[in-house]
Amino acid sequence: MSSERPHGRWLAPFGFVGGVRAGGRLLGPEWGRLRAGVLRTGVDGCGCALRQSQRWWWWLPLTSRSVIGGRSGRSPASPRPLSCSIAQESKDAGSRRDRPEGKRGKKAAAGDTGDGVAEDAEGAPYRHTVNLPVTSFDQRANAVVREPQIQQFWAEHRVFERLAASRLAEATFVLHDGPPYANGALHIGHALNKILKDIINRYQILRGKRVHFLPGWDCHGLPIELRALQSLSKKEKASLTPMLIRQVAERFALDAVQEQRASFQRYGVWAAWERPYLTLDPAYEAAQIQVFGEMFLKGFIYRGRKPVHWSPSSRTALAEAELEYPEGHVSRSLYAAFEVVQPSERARALLQGRSASVAVWTTTPWTIPANRAVAVNPALEYQVVEAAMPQRRVLIVATSLVETLSAKWGTVLRLLGTLRGADLIGTTYRHPLYPQLILRVVLGGDYVTTDAGTGLVHTAPGHGTEDFAVGQRESLEVFSPVDDAGRFTAEAGEALAGLSVLGEGNAKVIAELQACGALLLEEPYEHKYPYDWRTKKPTIFRATDQWFASIEPFRQQALRAVAQVQWIPPAGAARMRGMIESRSEWCISRQRAWGVPIPVFFDEATGEPVVDADILQHVQSVFAQHGSSAWWTLSVDDLLPPHSPHRGRALRRGTDTMDVWFDSGTSWAAALRDASASEGEAAPKVDLYLEGSDQHRGWFQSSLLTSVATRGTAPYRAVLTHGFVLDEKGMKMSKSVGNVVDPMEIIVGGADAKKKPPYGADVLRLWVSSVDYSSDVLIGPTILRQVADIYRKLRNTLRYMAGNLYDFEAGAVAYADLPSLDRYMLRRASQVMRQVQEAYDEYAFYRVFQTLQRFAVVDLSNFYLDIAKDRCYVAVPSEPRRRSCQLVMHAVVRDMARALAPILPHTAEDLWQSLRRGGGDAEAGAGSSIFEHGWLQHVTQAPGDASEDAVWDTVRGVRDVVNKALEGARSAGEIGASLEAHVVIRPGSAAVAECLRQCDRGNGVDELRYLFIVSQVTLEPALPEKVPLAAALEATEVSVRRADGHKCVRCWNYSVRVGEHATHPRLCERCVESVQRLGA
Ligand SMILES: [Zn+2]
Repeated sequence: MSSERPHGRWLAPFGFVGGVRAGGRLLGPEWGRLRAGVLRTGVDGCGCALRQSQRWWWWLPLTSRSVIGGRSGRSPASPRPLSCSIAQESKDAGSRRDRPEGKRGKKAAAGDTGDGVAEDAEGAPYRHTVNLPVTSFDQRANAVVREPQIQQFWAEHRVFERLAASRLAEATFVLHDGPPYANGALHIGHALNKILKDIINRYQILRGKRVHFLPGWDCHGLPIELRALQSLSKKEKASLTPMLIRQVAERFALDAVQEQRASFQRYGVWAAWERPYLTLDPAYEAAQIQVFGEMFLKGFIYRGRKPVHWSPSSRTALAEAELEYPEGHVSRSLYAAFEVVQPSERARALLQGRSASVAVWTTTPWTIPANRAVAVNPALEYQVVEAAMPQRRVLIVATSLVETLSAKWGTVLRLLGTLRGADLIGTTYRHPLYPQLILRVVLGGDYVTTDAGTGLVHTAPGHGTEDFAVGQRESLEVFSPVDDAGRFTAEAGEALAGLSVLGEGNAKVIAELQACGALLLEEPYEHKYPYDWRTKKPTIFRATDQWFASIEPFRQQALRAVAQVQWIPPAGAARMRGMIESRSEWCISRQRAWGVPIPVFFDEATGEPVVDADILQHVQSVFAQHGSSAWWTLSVDDLLPPHSPHRGRALRRGTDTMDVWFDSGTSWAAALRDASASEGEAAPKVDLYLEGSDQHRGWFQSSLLTSVATRGTAPYRAVLTHGFVLDEKGMKMSKSVGNVVDPMEIIVGGADAKKKPPYGADVLRLWVSSVDYSSDVLIGPTILRQVADIYRKLRNTLRYMAGNLYDFEAGAVAYADLPSLDRYMLRRASQVMRQVQEAYDEYAFYRVFQTLQRFAVVDLSNFYLDIAKDRCYVAVPSEPRRRSCQLVMHAVVRDMARALAPILPHTAEDLWQSLRRGGGDAEAGAGSSIFEHGWLQHVTQAPGDASEDAVWDTVRGVRDVVNKALEGARSAGEIGASLEAHVVIRPGSAAVAECLRQCDRGNGVDELRYLFIVSQVTLEPALPEKVPLAAALEATEVSVRRADGHKCVRCWNYSVRVGEHATHPRLCERCVESVQRLGA
């Protein structure tokens, strides 16, 4: 017996019969392609048999329905055997194979069409009187075939474009796409990012907005240039020109754009894919030059010799965003003594004629040749000490470090006298490597501390930001005797020239200091050190001639702009504020060929830069027409305006290109011209930027700075950030570890389909919706399996409702006439949908996911739809108790489809099209998509008295108690199916009893036997104790005994009246009436 419904009746009503109505009439020609897919899938895909019943075409999966129906040997006409979940189905299939072949098994195995119904003599006469579900919405997603078909449907009918064109400009929602780098295949982080954007866009579309979403790509820059270089032959490399590099690099970038675009489209992301913005487009480059020009003419951009992060391995300057700080970097640090030549007045008094040295510390010995000062903190206390090192020497160090240094140097430090930092200023010392060079002790800032070192700071203005600032104030030389490859130049002296500063050069400096007696101690020192994020090699600080954007003139304005933006999560505001506050100028020049040139000429003779408003405007128009390669292909005169006074001068063009962050940072100016709500608006404010949280220092910041510098405002109203994607254990993904999750493999499956099954884009998207992306998120095989399982359950719940709506008639039941249960369910759905809408508005998609999932399982599958089977299948089709249930399912399934559509667009569209074909549902014409039918319809239509909710909550509580009791009876072997039970309930309190009585109205719906899916219920007097509700539920007693009477072969309910009717002796009184009404 228990084999009929192996897991009791709180199971999801997941398994049932699907079908397609006969003929193309109902399907409509526009859906022909998809229909073909459905049929093919049904027949070929899962071994279904296509055959005709009296009323429509059926296709029945052999693995589930037919054999289970046959096996039960009970009432194959009944819908009961269909109620099993996917998981249970496969379990059934397995056990079927395992068990000895009985009568049914043999027949099925012998190639029977799988029609258990026809085999069963008992139930067969009534099979056609049961309303089994019919839908073209397949039980299996078959996403690998189906999703591309649905995408094709959207493309053919230009749904995204039509929706954008048909709506008012005032209702425009602009999500501005941060351009991914056009290099290589997409990874799971890209998928997370673009799918989040798509969920938001599709939600806005459903809410009636005109969505502007132009996809972009960042196409310039070093990684692509390096790949281009690697691809060149030896011969080509021998005669390398910037144009050759640019041509090859462009091809690489455009190929990557093609590949990445195809992937994004496969994720189901809607965008204006046929007209993306590329940072290499001439129009884009021209707009970028315009922003550069405006900043230049406002005086924000200037040329200067300054220390910048320099990568010897890439031979270019790097922006902060291009650096990483790997763990475990160890420098050769050293303490050195610089001999004092002329002590300050206060120091002289303490020294009393003794010679002394200032002690310094550095982690970059190679910068010692560039030493131009020693800085002290005027507020700190210093000490003159005598050290008994191998040779006796007098040193000056910070007082609070005396003990530490004594231990470190392994020598006693005898105190000779105390003085303030301010008292040391004016002291001169001799450069240890260049004895003729006499330098000064100068005023440092707060950065001079006693955390490490000696409290006196070696200052090399050519190799450090703070050093540079001190040097500017003190008029120190910006000395940087290091070339592009990171080698000492001849300026560093014969001994050092040509040596790498990060290798031999560093060692040589240490050796020289040792030789001249200046070295106090050398020791390894582990600390954070900047590396080139691309080559993974250490960088240096080096003064070069660069172009800078100064932040200072508009820093306050930028901070005000930050305050006006909505940051999601809010912590983003403080992060951005801190970065803007502490940011020094922005070095925007790069010494590379693959980029937008900095449009400046230089006088051949003097080296002076030549640029003005006319030149900038002319270059902009040349780029707009020919692209920025014209900078290399045209003559200098042709790059100058026709009337320019500079024509004919001996000028050379600059060879620097712009930092790629300047490229992408000007996208608000270059890529949004058609997003304006009104004609006059050149570049509209964007509703949302949405990228990974690393973009606070990258794109969010460069966009903000260029926009504030030229327009005075931020380019965005809101900025949403997401975390990174890690593997299931929270580890970073890496090829060497082998834990990389490829988004395309999730969709189409891996080489080993068992290990990596094809889940489809909607499962990937469901995962995106399920994670709290405000911090790092996890993905892996186990998580994907769980998500896929949830997807299948959702799909089956939707399918169950869709299947029961094939003969839905709008208006068949008035809202006022609905049974209490149905009113309750509509109110519950409306609560859920309101929560879903709130969660979408707050971009909290994991709440959408959780809310809908819980609703589908707890409220629908385990409760309402479980109960609904009797109403839907057994009732006469036009009976009010069936029609009212259809009304509820009609409202709920359509709002569920809408609520899920942003996350599961393929599934929702598939369902929608099948609903459109269903009874009474033919809305709109050819190519009409779910996205054209607006947002939730029933949120505000919840009927009836909300006070009934409390009654229903109690009844559901009692239902849980009943279910437990039934489960107990089943495992004790007293009953099999729940319909074999007669339950006797003694309510835990009078209040509980009252609730149960209210829900026993005798209308075929609000009746306890149907709510509990048992054949009989007896309500005994309530227990006398007055207790709170929760305790009363607990105290409610339920006992189970076998149902009275005999089993009806049509509805499986037990009744003492089975056998009364002469013509239908095997039917209960309900079924006799139904069958007679049907004229069967
Ligand atoms: Zn019956």
